Amino acid sequence: MSKKFYSGDFEKQPQEYPGIQSKMSPVPDTGEETYQGSNKLTGKKALITGGDSGIGRAAAIAYAKEGADVAINYHPEEESDAQDVKAAIEKIGQKIVLLPGDLREATFAQEMVKEAASQLGGLDVLVLNAGIQQYQYDIQKLDSKQLRDTFEVNVFSQVHAIQEALNYLKEGSSIILTSSIQGVKPSAHLVDYAMTKSCNISLTKSLAAQLGSHGIRVNAVAPGPIWTPLQISGGQPQESIPKFGQNQPLQRAGQPAELASAYVLLASDESSYTTGQVYGVTGGAPIN
Ligand code: NAD
Ligand code: MG
Repeated sequence: MSKKFYSGDFEKQPQEYPGIQSKMSPVPDTGEETYQGSNKLTGKKALITGGDSGIGRAAAIAYAKEGADVAINYHPEEESDAQDVKAAIEKIGQKIVLLPGDLREATFAQEMVKEAASQLGGLDVLVLNAGIQQYQYDIQKLDSKQLRDTFEVNVFSQVHAIQEALNYLKEGSSIILTSSIQGVKPSAHLVDYAMTKSCNISLTKSLAAQLGSHGIRVNAVAPGPIWTPLQISGGQPQESIPKFGQNQPLQRAGQPAELASAYVLLASDESSYTTGQVYGVTGGAPIN
């Protein structure tokens, strides 16, 4: 088993949604020190939603280390995490564009894509990774605001962003959605979230079929339990935090940096014949 990543218990550490990575203990590993690049994305221009923290941040750092220029979107309350990403990517030596904004606003997703393409000078890779997860054990207590918020961020904003991005993406471009093990193996306390994660998978498959003739690939990554702000800011009950991830075959939660290679592969020309697929990074739980 890899000794490189944290495998102990976690302390309970509640935060308000959307959660700040720098306040977590241990701070999630998003690859600033651990990811090694090798020019797999030289010259590409990528937009990553939820790029301030967790899995999206690991993708942003890895993309920059692979030679891409990167724009990240995040919720305005996450400015401090976003500034840390900006500093890290400037140190790597790539361009970084910050695009704060709330993806629950219907028009924002389109404006975000326009702005990314304008400031980066084009767009080759679109990573739709932002997500809301708020646990609720009782469907009768699932209020309509939560239901709407979850669908607006996790599903509707993806459609709006893709509609706009197709004005810029061309043959060889790649769209990557972050789904979840919840999309195929839903938990009792994540009814609304799991529904949206199934939507991510069906969108991946239908869109791959629709865009294949344009040479644009569409794939999803389906993570298992990963140590990120989403989990401690309402994604799980605090009682589940200490042993979070330990029921997986690899017996620990994953760190965001352990997903970076999947996002790099799916963005790069090395996966030129891969589309409509769901890539599981789950610590061992089967996704098929
Ligand atoms: P995270 O908290 O680091 O990232 C989620 C991001 O979503 C936030 O940083 C925020 O920028 C963005 N976001 C949320 N609400 C938003 C809004 N209203 N407007 C704009 N942006 C908003 O957590 P993460 O776990 O890295 O999450 C990234 C993706 O991974 C999500 O889609 C999540 O569903 C998925 N995922 C996570 C896990 C896990 O165990 N952590 C497992 C499976 C799937
Ligand atoms: Mg965040």
